[in-house]
Amino acid sequence: MARRDTAERDPSSTVNPVAATLDLLGDRLTLALLGHAFVSGTTRFNQWLELTGAPSSVLTDRLHSLAAAGVLERSPQAGSDRHEYLLTELGTATWPILVCIWSWQREWTPEGAWQPDLVHDVCGHRGPAVIRCGSCHSVVTTHDTDIEMDAAAIWTVTSGARRRSTRVPAGNTASADMQFNAVMEAIGDRWSGAITGLALAGARRFGEFRSALDISPTTLTDRLARLCVAQILTHPSGSERQYRLTHRGRALFGVFVFLIRWSTQAYPEAAGPLRILHRDCGSILDPELQCRGCDGHVDRHTARIEPMLPHP
Ligand SMILES: [Zn+2]
Ligand SMILES: [Zn+2]
Repeated sequence: MARRDTAERDPSSTVNPVAATLDLLGDRLTLALLGHAFVSGTTRFNQWLELTGAPSSVLTDRLHSLAAAGVLERSPQAGSDRHEYLLTELGTATWPILVCIWSWQREWTPEGAWQPDLVHDVCGHRGPAVIRCGSCHSVVTTHDTDIEMDAAAIWTVTSGARRRSTRVPAGNTASADMQFNAVMEAIGDRWSGAITGLALAGARRFGEFRSALDISPTTLTDRLARLCVAQILTHPSGSERQYRLTHRGRALFGVFVFLIRWSTQAYPEAAGPLRILHRDCGSILDPELQCRGCDGHVDRHTARIEPMLPHP
């Protein structure tokens, strides 16, 4: 059904929800801004400026992008001619994405100890959650799901120039919340995100990645190499042009399932390029977080995020 939609639509007006999501959220400053909004309730420009140390022009750009995408809502500040930025419903729906990114950083990167920690208020358990199916409540991993790709090469459609060229200077990223270095290798670039997603879907061979993406062999080779350096993919010696996910790469499953779910919330009119199915119950995966301590549902109302420790 989705195939018919995408085939008939004018390609120039087609939004690839996943690519657009990676473009918007696959940016360390954007993730840091959202993180502060969740952890500290930050709503004002000057607060974010102080917390992130980002140049004000870059910060302005990101806040405008998030407002344009409907993630933040610009609203007049009482008793002042200034504005504040409040999370919309779509904005608060990014919460599990952030939680999964922080959890992944904590488990799989050296700087993880300085990332915010998830605490389930219901039972007091501290630490990462697992992913479960919202329909049947079974815990799911990459081994329990099938990913249906829309083969119509809709990754060809791009939503314009990337703004990642405006990099925040490294000297300004000392605060722990800006250290999304490792995860950015996987989601901070549309191609890397698509390749990691395909690998999670079971793609192994160079040709499989190549046929699913409208990508030049040079760019594909480059991104595969970078994902290997980042220890997200591994390239078994002796098997020419074969790639597989490392444990570290496989652990990004939660980040991706919530990113994909969010892309369908953010772009409800667009045909999704992929669907994740829970094989056991046959439903399209509606992911939820489940506490490792008590098996209860973890969401913004039952859990809190403890702020990061000061960086040494
Ligand atoms: Zn299920
Ligand atoms: Zn619990």
